[in-house]
Amino acid sequence: MNKEILKLQKQITTIQSKIAAIQNSCQHENNVAEYGANTGNYDPSSDCYWVFVKCLDCDERMRFDSIKHSDLYGDKRWKIKNK
Ligand SMILES: [Zn+2]
Repeated sequence: MNKEILKLQKQITTIQSKIAAIQNSCQHENNVAEYGANTGNYDPSSDCYWVFVKCLDCDERMRFDSIKHSDLYGDKRWKIKNK
């Protein structure tokens, strides 16, 4: 492979791990939530709900579905403000 590409890929890996370290230490307190739903299915058990949250500080994004909703509120790092 082209040596310049290898060098750039190594830099990308380094930068990505730096971003991940910042996101892992972030408390995600400055976030926005967007609620979504897919309802009205013929089979109501197919209805689903989710919340998509984005941290405005570190840009981490997370989607929680209704089954995992209790986990969301148990995860102190994601305090949803506009619920
Ligand atoms: Zn964050």
